[in-house]
Amino acid sequence: MSTTRQRCVAHFGAILLTLAAARAESGFVQLTGWGGGKPEEIVPQAAEVGFNEIIVWNHDTNYLRRLVEVGGKHGIGVYSCVFLGDLKDWQKRRPGIAPPMQEMNKEEDAALERIEADKTKGKSRYQYGGEPVQPIEVLTSPMLCFHAPEVMSFFEEQIRDILAVPDIRGVAFDYFGYRNYRCCRCARSMAAFEAWHRQRPTLSREKALEQFSLETLVEFTNTLARYARSIRPGAKVQCHVYPVFLPEPLYGNRLDVDYCGQTAAWYFEPLWSLRKICNYARVIFGQEKKHFGRAEGVALVGVYNRPEHYPVKGPERLAQELQAILDGGGDRVQVCSLNDVLKDQPTREVFKRFFKEHRPSREERR
Ligand SMILES: [Zn+2]
Repeated sequence: MSTTRQRCVAHFGAILLTLAAARAESGFVQLTGWGGGKPEEIVPQAAEVGFNEIIVWNHDTNYLRRLVEVGGKHGIGVYSCVFLGDLKDWQKRRPGIAPPMQEMNKEEDAALERIEADKTKGKSRYQYGGEPVQPIEVLTSPMLCFHAPEVMSFFEEQIRDILAVPDIRGVAFDYFGYRNYRCCRCARSMAAFEAWHRQRPTLSREKALEQFSLETLVEFTNTLARYARSIRPGAKVQCHVYPVFLPEPLYGNRLDVDYCGQTAAWYFEPLWSLRKICNYARVIFGQEKKHFGRAEGVALVGVYNRPEHYPVKGPERLAQELQAILDGGGDRVQVCSLNDVLKDQPTREVFKRFFKEHRPSREERR
């Protein structure tokens, strides 16, 4: 424990990443990429860089079958992801039925308007669902309200279809959270909250709303994870905790999933300090099994190589972020997006160095 803390602190002395430093740690064992594309193109490239899992948002059965088939030849497992922003599939599966949507209050709606109207490059440091920098930030994408039972059955249907694809490794969860990063203020959610609060009259309204919102969010995830395992025992569940839940950003170890990705290094400026990355990794990995034995922590690293829209981290910075995660005791990483790693040769080299060339064998890890 104290060694890890010393490493976090010592990190600031170490400016340049050396291969020797990477080798000295126990090393990474898993690299998962969020993305997609033509299986014949992306899978061999991903394998070459050291990815061993790909998560796609695509639910098309033929596409998934092909991706699983090509993935199998290159040692890459496939997940398909369900997400609370999936209004397109709602309309397809529930034609003519209005989707139950999350709602916000006046201030949050005003923040949404302000963010949407902001056309400057970098959008005044808006964080797109990561920890906010502006006084009030909300997610610009509309989200389903998961307090509605029909949203649960919608997701169960999607999960059933995904797990019907032979040999798919499992399902992933994304966008499981609140649009205002705290709670849902629709009439249904508020009624459920009032009833919940009446049972716990000693809690202040503010504290109760936080606790209700966290508990129901965790239970939604865990119910769907259990559902996936009931459909196909052995199916894996992976997630990324997103958008941020402000009352408790690192709540991921409460989730009964196999691989819980939590943000360790976000995309945008101001880039997170290496100390923060290392400290988050200590929690993500050090407390991964606090609630569930099956859970493995995963650190999410944001990578965009889209200079026309966002600042690019560059290979040196990415190497420092990965090293900070290693220093915090990390052994698994999710990257979003896979395609942004693959499209840039220097970025590929960084990941290859950490995940392919120095991936320790089982014996070395003991
Ligand atoms: Zn609601």
